[in-house]
Amino acid sequence: MQRLRIVLNGTVQGVGFRPFVYRTAKDLGLSGFILNDTSGVTIEVEGAREKIDFFLKRLHTEKPPLAHIFYEETEFLEPAGYDEFSIRESESSGTPEVLILPDISTCADCERELLDPSDRRYLYPFINCTNCGPRFTIIERLPYDRPNTTMKEFLMCPECKREYTTPEDRRFHAQPNACPICGPEVFLTDPEGKSLGRGNDAIKGVVSLLLEGGIIGLKGIGGFHLICNALDDGAVNTLRRRKRRSLKPFAVMFRGISELAEYTLPTVLEESILLSPARPIVLVKRKGSLLESSAPGLERIGAFLPYSPLHLLLLSETSFPLVATSGNLSDEPIVKDNDEALERLRGLADAFIMHNRPIRRRCDDSVVKVVAGLPQIIRRSRGYVPLPLRLPFRLKRKVLALGGHEKNTVSIGMDDRIIPSQHIGDMETPESMENLEAIVNDLCSLYSFEPEVVVHDLHPRYPTARWAFKNFPHKAVGLQHHHAHILSCMAEHGLSGNVTGIAWDGTGYGEDGTLWGGEFLNSRLDGFERLFHFRHIILIGGERAVREPRRVALSILFDLFGENIPDSMNHITNEFNDTELAILYRAYTDRINSPPSSSAGRLFDAVSSITGLLQVCDYEAQAAMMLEDRYDPSVSDHYDYSVEGGVIDWRPLFHGIIEEVHRERIPSRFINTLAVIAADIAGRCGNERACLSGGVFQNDPLTERTVAELVKKGFRVFTHRNIPSNDGGISIGQAVYGGMIDI
Ligand code: ZN
Ligand code: ZN
Ligand code: FE
Repeated sequence: MQRLRIVLNGTVQGVGFRPFVYRTAKDLGLSGFILNDTSGVTIEVEGAREKIDFFLKRLHTEKPPLAHIFYEETEFLEPAGYDEFSIRESESSGTPEVLILPDISTCADCERELLDPSDRRYLYPFINCTNCGPRFTIIERLPYDRPNTTMKEFLMCPECKREYTTPEDRRFHAQPNACPICGPEVFLTDPEGKSLGRGNDAIKGVVSLLLEGGIIGLKGIGGFHLICNALDDGAVNTLRRRKRRSLKPFAVMFRGISELAEYTLPTVLEESILLSPARPIVLVKRKGSLLESSAPGLERIGAFLPYSPLHLLLLSETSFPLVATSGNLSDEPIVKDNDEALERLRGLADAFIMHNRPIRRRCDDSVVKVVAGLPQIIRRSRGYVPLPLRLPFRLKRKVLALGGHEKNTVSIGMDDRIIPSQHIGDMETPESMENLEAIVNDLCSLYSFEPEVVVHDLHPRYPTARWAFKNFPHKAVGLQHHHAHILSCMAEHGLSGNVTGIAWDGTGYGEDGTLWGGEFLNSRLDGFERLFHFRHIILIGGERAVREPRRVALSILFDLFGENIPDSMNHITNEFNDTELAILYRAYTDRINSPPSSSAGRLFDAVSSITGLLQVCDYEAQAAMMLEDRYDPSVSDHYDYSVEGGVIDWRPLFHGIIEEVHRERIPSRFINTLAVIAADIAGRCGNERACLSGGVFQNDPLTERTVAELVKKGFRVFTHRNIPSNDGGISIGQAVYGGMIDI
């Protein structure tokens, strides 16, 4: 007779782990208990040694699909003489270390019951079980138990209670467990909030409004979507007008893989990501001109599958896919509360389908793209957050990292892990800064976290940096943007020592006060040297040049030819009248509101303007996306470039583009040139490992070619998979830095 204590840390709460342990112990005739606590799960089993061995084996081989054990501690103790095996009540003392699970899409069992007329939850939009349902968006505090969730106000009926308390049941301790008798309900309202129907009538009402071309505000898991019939161009264009988004792509929700395959060409890998429990938006190729109004001028569309029972019910009633874009005004956080929707989405939606289960924290849809043959998370939010990133080393202190300015996230770092927040977005409005503050406070209280250092971007005018100076004047530490990118890639792959960091993006504040963005760094966890960068482009008019590729092209033409720009470039000079051209030239030569930048992203802008693809952007990275779509893998040659000192000169590259006879090959040859530059320059940097980071590496052909060129030269190459290569990853790199520097 022996007693073994097992302490586990990982995703072990809210995934059916306790009933699994209970059943296994009973089955083996072991006594003891299991207890959820703030640090995970504690199990004690008592019995014959042989049976304890079997128990340990089954613990690892038969555990529920969503349970992941990251840490395990075992210890033999004096037998205590337990009579039976029991599930003990949670203790809530101590520092919370437990992993909170992300929201998980409706599982196959629940989906079957939802559509089964004999099931008591037939057509019930809040069906869930221990294998699925909301988690992160309903938790108020740890441990994860019903009274600590937004389900606390719903008292379970006797039947739900029975399921909840029966260890053999699929809903044993499923915290959001509910049914039509005792749980939340959906209702349809007009724009003023007046009720137009409840339950199934509400869903039928939404379907008929969608058929008439209506736009509906739909309350989901992490906030509101605005939805409309994706096949109705009139409705999609109305939505564009109301959201003031003339061309930026909208995501589309399909009933299932077969409907999705009618409109798009998903690969096997893309299908598996679409069907994964996180149910992210996945960028897939459209079939011909189908769904053109949802992604104007682009080859790929953001596609996703229903992830809540309400989505499933709605799509089972419609014969068309739905545009589903986040319910917000541009640059503001996604709307999550009913009253907030009526106020802030007024004028955007013709009706609202809402429910009375509160959303505790907003969480946008995640976005994944297959880049260089592997999934890359472009926006890491619902379905992934708040799972931590594990490090193979320990941080020296607790860090709060505030990220950058665009597509922002914040992160907290402690011990051997970093917990990145959900997507916060661009920090352009006071509302987005308020949202960031709320998310920082939420993370700190959820994890009982008090930062010892607060890392911000070096840019002195970023609101996040100012917030750090104001709130943490003695703990604030600045970090250069591109080194943060490379550190996020190192963290993702658990690297330490020196690497060659290739950080290419739109912009970031450099240590010399200029705008960087085409950088080769010698990076290590606590510092870096800038080794090479692209020749400066003069951004005529600053921010305006970022929105107008024609200004970037003009600047490059001024650099190449002075005022005597060749006639073959008239399509660019004709974008401006003579007076404007004179003023712009003056601004260029005298650097009037025209900062220099080494950005690689701007090279894409210039090329798209010179090839006549795009003169003025409607959304960020549009030029790069259009060039990506025009890449032809059968083109293998490239343009020239030169290197002098630490500067990579693109003038030969642009001479080549301007003189190109095969115009259609320009995008491919341009991208190939960048890949060749990456490998050539990395060869001069002196490390055998190269990390690729920055938004430019969301580009599939560029990343594919760059990796291939580097591998050919014998490099070990690391690219982003689970952490965004765009500025959504900045806070992760900052957290590593804050945790590793000597202070
Ligand atoms: Zn389920
Ligand atoms: Zn019930
Ligand atoms: Fe960046």
